[in-house]
Amino acid sequence: MNPSRTLCSPLLPQYAGYIDGKWRSAQSNRMLIVRDPATGDRLAEVPDMGEAEALAAIEAADHAWRTPVPTGERKQWLVDIHSKLLANRDELARIITLEQGKPLKEAQVEVDYAAGFFQVFASHLERLKPSTLDKTIRGASWTAHHRPAGVAALITPWNFPLATLAKKLPAALGAGCSVVIKPAELTPLSAIALVHLCEQAGVPAGRVNLVIGQPAPIGKVLCEHPAVRVISFTGSTRTGQLLLRDSAAHVKRLALELGGNAPFLVFDDADLEAAASALMVSKFRCAGQTCVCANRVYVHETVLDKFTEMVAERLSKLKVGDGAQPDTDIGPLINRATFEKVARHVQDALDRGAKRVVGDEAKPPGNDWGNFFPPTVLTGITPEMAVFQEETFGPVVAISKFQSETEAIESANSTPYGLAAYVCTRDSQRAQRCTEQLAFGYIGINTGTGPIPDIPFGGVKLSGFGREGGAEGLLEFSEIQTVAAAE
Ligand code: NAP
Repeated sequence: MNPSRTLCSPLLPQYAGYIDGKWRSAQSNRMLIVRDPATGDRLAEVPDMGEAEALAAIEAADHAWRTPVPTGERKQWLVDIHSKLLANRDELARIITLEQGKPLKEAQVEVDYAAGFFQVFASHLERLKPSTLDKTIRGASWTAHHRPAGVAALITPWNFPLATLAKKLPAALGAGCSVVIKPAELTPLSAIALVHLCEQAGVPAGRVNLVIGQPAPIGKVLCEHPAVRVISFTGSTRTGQLLLRDSAAHVKRLALELGGNAPFLVFDDADLEAAASALMVSKFRCAGQTCVCANRVYVHETVLDKFTEMVAERLSKLKVGDGAQPDTDIGPLINRATFEKVARHVQDALDRGAKRVVGDEAKPPGNDWGNFFPPTVLTGITPEMAVFQEETFGPVVAISKFQSETEAIESANSTPYGLAAYVCTRDSQRAQRCTEQLAFGYIGINTGTGPIPDIPFGGVKLSGFGREGGAEGLLEFSEIQTVAAAE
């Protein structure tokens, strides 16, 4: 596939928001330009919406969910959208690559991953059936009903513009909610395409609404409007904290998928070749801009040199470039600010005594686009360095060494974040000890893979709460109503 640059796509019938079943422009007529992060090419202009559109979307959503739709019909929406996602896999991947920058092969995996959530949530709708106790207690029969929570706000980031939305949307629709989607300003096109597929699948007007534009005013309305009962957010911890604070007055339900700072532990008994490959899988997806990617690599001192060599060798084979080219392994960083953050982390580490084993000096391009960062390996990393304290969100492998299992676990846990952690060892008892002691919501043992739709995923501590995927992801959007009926 060699995608053309213009984003003329049958999946993008309009570059617009979507409210109450109609494609809408912004009342202000202001527009946002969406650019290809690899080239700076102007891909589209989308409406720059704000408070007024957010309000209209909430009202439409609030009206829509109150008309009950049988579970079977809701299930059919999910099944149809799942088929449509797969039928349009290449075109959706082209849109993701053009607006986000990731390699096409990764974008195709993202489409499959996104489609998987529609299938999995469709298969769990049985869980919403009421359950009644099989005996009378206090002279009454007792039933727990799952009711739709109401209007759900879905706020998503730019790194997985389709998948982060697909983790939320089918769960909300399946549970009987209506949604107001607010995608990232940098990558609204995948969301437009998905809403278009919902429309084609016959999802009624008002059930799915899309508001593109200014995060602060839209976010404020979503937090403060009493009709919005759930806020499902994926993004930075800072924004998550803001949403938590601003929605407190109405005691809304939140599901927060926030930042990470994942440790990756390599013990001396590990299969080092397999561990190096697992690290590559974890670290370089989306150019290192993923919440689950290994951020702090801890290697037992006796295998440090060998492991570093293996990683360096694999890294030298990666091709950095425009994600739209079929042989690209690592695309550009999303924007200049991200490039500067990654460069700052590398420089800070070097200034504090780290060694750059692989990687040229990062030179920003002359303009704002094409922020390609050279894949880098640093050794001699110590805890005070920014690269260990913060999520780097770039293609930098930051390695430090450890001597004992206790030290490795303590170091891994020395972060306020708790999303993903990885352990490489051949000793199953050690793997179990580590798993029990690591304070993270997700643990990969001898694998660098990220989450899958079939089982719940989410963080602890500053990485958030709530789960996506599995039956638990569906239940985030339903409220339990307990009914005691005197007999
Ligand atoms: P971000 O700045 O928090 O933005 C995420 C979303 O929130 C975007 O749609 C953004 O809109 C919106 N937003 C920003 N300020 C807002 C406000 N005041 N009210 C309402 N919405 C607001 O995060 P990001 O930099 O795009 O994403 C990267 C972060 O996401 C990383 O920390 C990463 O770890 C995390 N992440 C976590 C997971 C997970 O599953 N835990 C998955 C992916 C990413 P604009 O785009 O318009 O600013």
